[in-house]
Amino acid sequence: MKLTDNADLRPYNSFGVAARATCLAEIEHGDELEPATALAKERDLPMLLLGGGTNVLFAGDFPGLVLLMRNRGVEIDRESGLVRAAAGENWHDLVRTCLQNGLYGLENLALIPGSTGAAPVQNIGAYGVELESFFVELELFDCADGSLRTMSREDCQFSYRDSVLKQSQVQSRLQPLSPPQPQPKSPPQPQVVCSLTLQLPREPAPNLSYPALAQELEHVAKPTPQEVFEAVCRIRRRKLPNPAEIGNAGSFFKNPIISQDEFEQLSNRYDSPPSFPAKEGVKVPAGWLLDQCGFKGYQKGAAGVYERHALILVNRGGATGRELHQLAMKMQDHVQSEFGITLEPEVRIICTT
Ligand SMILES: Cc1cc2nc3c(=O)[nH]c(=O)nc-3n(C[C@H](O)[C@H](O)[C@H](O)COP(=O)(O)OP(=O)(O)OC[C@H]3O[C@@H](n4cnc5c(N)ncnc54)[C@H](O)[C@@H]3O)c2cc1C
Repeated sequence: MKLTDNADLRPYNSFGVAARATCLAEIEHGDELEPATALAKERDLPMLLLGGGTNVLFAGDFPGLVLLMRNRGVEIDRESGLVRAAAGENWHDLVRTCLQNGLYGLENLALIPGSTGAAPVQNIGAYGVELESFFVELELFDCADGSLRTMSREDCQFSYRDSVLKQSQVQSRLQPLSPPQPQPKSPPQPQVVCSLTLQLPREPAPNLSYPALAQELEHVAKPTPQEVFEAVCRIRRRKLPNPAEIGNAGSFFKNPIISQDEFEQLSNRYDSPPSFPAKEGVKVPAGWLLDQCGFKGYQKGAAGVYERHALILVNRGGATGRELHQLAMKMQDHVQSEFGITLEPEVRIICTT
């Protein structure tokens, strides 16, 4: 286990904001989690788990121990379609490897940045597909008591950009920055996904339910999984900023689900507002709501909103996490007062100092 004191977290978050951790531990094998937890206890430090850092915003320093999951390994059984991957594997590489091995279904989730271990945390989804459709189980190390256990799909309680793992995390809600929030005396200890098992079909069954994807492939009579993979990558490269060039964490807010009555009120004000059916009501694109409030391309200093997508906050170089957090709160306030709809962040906000 490689340890760094007073660690710079800028390379480990895709917003590229400056933040420091008391200590950073790079975990290359699952059996390093026990000594890392013991170290945190010994030094009385709270712990935070990071994979690729593509779904977090550091609104301040983290006065604790950051665990970076870097364990590797992929086992593929082409006969049964079972795939077991270590948490530290890059998600997009795993999607490509499965495709190359004749196992399908993950094509629509191509190019989602980050690690495999974080994928079940918010049940990653894109272009009409969610991880839960292929999920079998995960192996979990609980830092609270050092136990190792297996969680099934039912245990994980997946829903839209959510799971029991995400709910158990602290500071995931948008909070006022001022005055600073007091640190809980004993914050919950991380629950570490060490590996993930998926079951993938051997027969191609392209999912083109998402209109933009169907449109991209309308000239192809019977798209292969490889063609779907490439189409998804093309759309994403056109639509989303590359974090290596412009700091961002993808969609900052979840798409809110509102009641049928609320949707009718919205439809009285706007001509055919965009919507998707959802289990609990009607899902309205948060990007559309923010667009109506004029946020697309908004800029304040180096913190801003992407000019092609109102749901993506960007660091144009040198923005602080606090500035980005303040901008997010401003966006949330506008949508609340304009539509009476509360936007919930998809990104985990680390706001401890
Ligand atoms: C340009 C861009 C586009 C994106 N598009 C999408 C998209 O289409 N769909 C989508 O769902 N997401 C999208 N995201 C968000 C992000 O890529 C995913 O949420 C991804 O799964 C995060 O992986 P990560 O390893 O970077 O997680 P991190 O940001 O490191 O962590 C995210 C959360 O997961 C926890 N975590 C990390 N690793 C583990 C582990 N091993 N065990 C337990 N908890 C862990 C962390 O503590 C944190 O709470 C996008 C992000 C960007 C920057």
